[in-house]
Amino acid sequence: MDAVYDEEGQRSLIPTGEDLVFMEADAVLIAIGQENSFPWIERDIGLEFGKWDMPVVDELTFQSSHEQVFFGGDSAFGPENIITAVAHGHQVAISIDLLCRGEDVRNRLAPGVTLLSQKMGVHEWSYDNAIEADLRFIVPQADKKKTLADRKVEVELGFDISTGFKEAQRCLNCDVQTVFEAVRCIECDACVDICPTDCITFTANGEEETLRERLTAPAGNLAQDLYVSEVLPTTRVMVKDENVCLHCGLCAERCPTTAWDMQKFLYNVTMAGQ
Ligand code: SF4
Ligand code: SF4
Repeated sequence: MDAVYDEEGQRSLIPTGEDLVFMEADAVLIAIGQENSFPWIERDIGLEFGKWDMPVVDELTFQSSHEQVFFGGDSAFGPENIITAVAHGHQVAISIDLLCRGEDVRNRLAPGVTLLSQKMGVHEWSYDNAIEADLRFIVPQADKKKTLADRKVEVELGFDISTGFKEAQRCLNCDVQTVFEAVRCIECDACVDICPTDCITFTANGEEETLRERLTAPAGNLAQDLYVSEVLPTTRVMVKDENVCLHCGLCAERCPTTAWDMQKFLYNVTMAGQ
């Protein structure tokens, strides 16, 4: 088959005309994929459908063109994951609550965000920051003879406690951020020396393209913004490439003036009724 796309990007599979090929097999698993389909929704009830025959849904409120109908999960913007679907559910609940109270569904509270220092003592962090070089652990699976014979048999068995613990130790603590306060920095370069990934550089500011190349470890990932501090007393700036930071906290451990601090980022989604 050839995949042929029309002017709207819709794909059709067109036979190429070649001879059919027969393959012997003991068992055939048919993978048909999945897509949204709304033929059961009558088209004269005020619901507008757009591209891919999907309902037109507001990205903030999840409200359709019919004010009392909301979409979330795969039905809103196409296949995603279950976490996204749950997040949509929270947002839809806020919209429905506001609608039922006669308020503007767009008038919703912003999520709560907080940064909290994780320093407990001089050499003590409230999170485990040791670097693990382990590769991803493979989740054990049930015997294929059993899983192929009975589709109701769970394929992934899950980790046992000790492997699960090791896998959890690979966490990069992305919720714990390096926070830099330029006013405290005495430009001793101690953080530069200790950073295991060379992601901190003190240098003269300049155009981003050349600045990226002048860093101790050149920052080639253009999708990742650089952090550039305010100008420091020596007229240099501190530049950090978050792309390679391990969140190990060594910079904050070494800094004599607490110009670096490790702070945990908390995101609290606003709930319906708040
Ligand atoms: S947290 Fe670790 S890897 Fe990140 S900047 Fe500090 S020393 Fe470097
Ligand atoms: S260790 Fe602290 S004071 Fe020294 S250069 Fe780094 S941030 Fe500045």
